[in-house]
Amino acid sequence: MKASKERAVLYPGSFDPLTLGHLDLIRRAARIFDKVYVGVLVNPHKKSLFSVEERVIMIDRIIKDIPNAEVVSFSGLLVDFCRQLGIRHILRGLRDAGDFEAEIKVAQGLTVLEPGLDTVFLGTDLRYSYLSSSMVREVASGGGDVSAFVPEGLAPLVAEKYSQLSKAE
Ligand code: ADP
Repeated sequence: MKASKERAVLYPGSFDPLTLGHLDLIRRAARIFDKVYVGVLVNPHKKSLFSVEERVIMIDRIIKDIPNAEVVSFSGLLVDFCRQLGIRHILRGLRDAGDFEAEIKVAQGLTVLEPGLDTVFLGTDLRYSYLSSSMVREVASGGGDVSAFVPEGLAPLVAEKYSQLSKAE
């Protein structure tokens, strides 16, 4: 897996779960870049709803109609992972000024660590500007239907996960 010849971008995130906002960004990036890697970050310090393996399987199924998109998981430093893959571009989404404030600092920090590693920002589609994974989790944890927020087929999996969790309590 070496992407040095093609114009590849890594879209890193938690995607816990992937929302329609994320999917829209992936589709748009796939029209700009030769290759889009959706990178699920393994973060042992962050409690997640879905395991990394579950997220990778779900995302793989959802993006299978986008020929130049691929899901991967990674741990450790983003810059190290980009170096391994030969990637020079990071993709992040911007929903509002809050996102911008946080994201610009991360992007600047990344260029200090790895000069030449550029972060490309795509603004959210109007339809999804309010949408976040945490909102999806909040609605689903209260028993609400999240099918308007996530790609087709995902809502039952989110509901099932909360029903398993409530049985385990
Ligand atoms: P992280 O924990 O790294 O923020 P997320 O999965 O929450 O991971 O988000 C990954 C990226 O997708 C971030 O850049 C975030 O701003 C962007 N994003 C999240 N939701 C949306 C949305 N509705 N529209 C556009 N971008 C989004």
